[in-house]
Amino acid sequence: MTDSHCCAELTRRVEHECDLHPDPFECPDNLVYYSARLREYGLIIHDGGSAMISIGYCPWCGSELPASARDLWFDELARRGIDPDSDDMPEEFTDGRWLAAIDTEPPATETGGRVRSD
Ligand SMILES: [Zn+2]
Ligand SMILES: [Zn+2]
Repeated sequence: MTDSHCCAELTRRVEHECDLHPDPFECPDNLVYYSARLREYGLIIHDGGSAMISIGYCPWCGSELPASARDLWFDELARRGIDPDSDDMPEEFTDGRWLAAIDTEPPATETGGRVRSD
């Protein structure tokens, strides 16, 4: 599954892979981290750890990036009665699949309001 990003440059940065540094946080050439699981973008802080600064807009094309799904992730787990700390996390919650499943559900807007009961 490939995620679509706002522009080719961001996609290229997010998909940056380096043979020398399998850990994206260890590669000095890697600037942007994307979490499909939480739909979050961040600028990697190369201080030896895994810190990053989350960003709301694309640094290259200026597009507003999709809102973080971090809260939604916890909400959805709670709705299904799953403990976020449990070991038997459903696989779909470890990447973007859970979100795709939600996104494809029809929006919960009220329609058919014109039907009259009299
Ligand atoms: Zn590297
Ligand atoms: Zn962009």
